[in-house]
Amino acid sequence: MKENINKEFVARFNSEGVFYASSGRINLIGEHTDYNGGFVFPGAIDKCIMAEIKPNGSDKVRVYSIDIDSYVEFGLKEEDAPTAQWARYIFGVCREIIKRGGKVGGFDTVFAGNVPLGAGLSSSAALESCFAFALNDLFNDNKIDKFELAKIGQSTEHNYCGVNCGIMDQFASIFGKKNCLMRLDCRSMEFKYFPFEPKGYKLVLVDSVVKHELVDSPYNKRRESCERVSKFLGVETLRDANMDMLMSVKGKISDEDFKRAKFVIGEKQRVLDVSFALQDNDYATVGVKMYETHDGLSKDYEVSCVELDYLNDIAKECGVTGSRIMGGGFGGCTINLVKDELYDKFITTAKEKFASKYGHEPKVYEVVISDGAHKCE
Ligand code: ADP
Ligand code: MG
Repeated sequence: MKENINKEFVARFNSEGVFYASSGRINLIGEHTDYNGGFVFPGAIDKCIMAEIKPNGSDKVRVYSIDIDSYVEFGLKEEDAPTAQWARYIFGVCREIIKRGGKVGGFDTVFAGNVPLGAGLSSSAALESCFAFALNDLFNDNKIDKFELAKIGQSTEHNYCGVNCGIMDQFASIFGKKNCLMRLDCRSMEFKYFPFEPKGYKLVLVDSVVKHELVDSPYNKRRESCERVSKFLGVETLRDANMDMLMSVKGKISDEDFKRAKFVIGEKQRVLDVSFALQDNDYATVGVKMYETHDGLSKDYEVSCVELDYLNDIAKECGVTGSRIMGGGFGGCTINLVKDELYDKFITTAKEKFASKYGHEPKVYEVVISDGAHKCE
């Protein structure tokens, strides 16, 4: 990828720049917990966006995307926003740095990536984080702290790309560390690294390639349920509730709200359980918790779909250690922790069975937990 980018950079700009990269991410466990003040457990992966960048002394950004085969130029004022969606991620990062009092001058850049687009691995956060990290290094003597870099990416999504996302993806892409997952507390924003070196296992995403667009926003309805139960219990968010508290109001809240809250409260505990299990290298427990999360998402939170439940069933049948929906649900991927010796059989079986039932094969992405944003030597 690096040679490719460099060849293109030299051909277009007749000089050479500095290389930066930032990764996509997975989330091992902790789903629908962010807006409930709970925990998530992401890590950066070995699939990244890489850019070669050189300040050009002007007030113009000149950018070529290898993967989209498209060239765009834009200025750095608010009214200079490019129309191409992919370029707005970079423009947004520039603007968000400038809005915070940081410096960004014109630069030339060529970039490419291998994070699959729209597969739930957050290629957009990889793109934002790559440029946020690079522009901090090139124009700001690295004075912007890393959390602010993540927020710059998040604000880019909000203000320039129309995506109202949380902070997890950009956080993971910026802070990611090789062989480590991060338990992020979405209430205090404190985080801790946990070793994740599953020797003898592989981590693999199986992408159903389906996305069920539902008429009324199920996401908002889930949030409303959680807020209703919190209010009923007199707590700020479900982070502050436990199972006993929930059991004491059973029958006084709707069955649906009860199930939603049951999932969220259970999920908080599962993330903690997984972090303790990782400290003991106990991947069997990690796997059990992953299956529990899937069950909860499917039966209590009701954000699964037949395709994802089928992938989960296949994983179980094949003896896969852990498997669950990754992401908001209603389509997308499952994340699977698979013993090396079962890997080939699982992948073949999943492809065959899924294709014969749904008419297309799932996509498969093996991932390794890797470093997040960095300058490439
Ligand atoms: P994801 O779940 O992968 O983040 P998004 O829809 O949020 O999906 O972001 C995907 C968008 O990010 C693409 O449509 C494109 O605009 C931009 N993008 C991601 N990767 C690349 C790339 N390698 N080259 C150009 N644009 C990219
Ligand atoms: Mg995205």
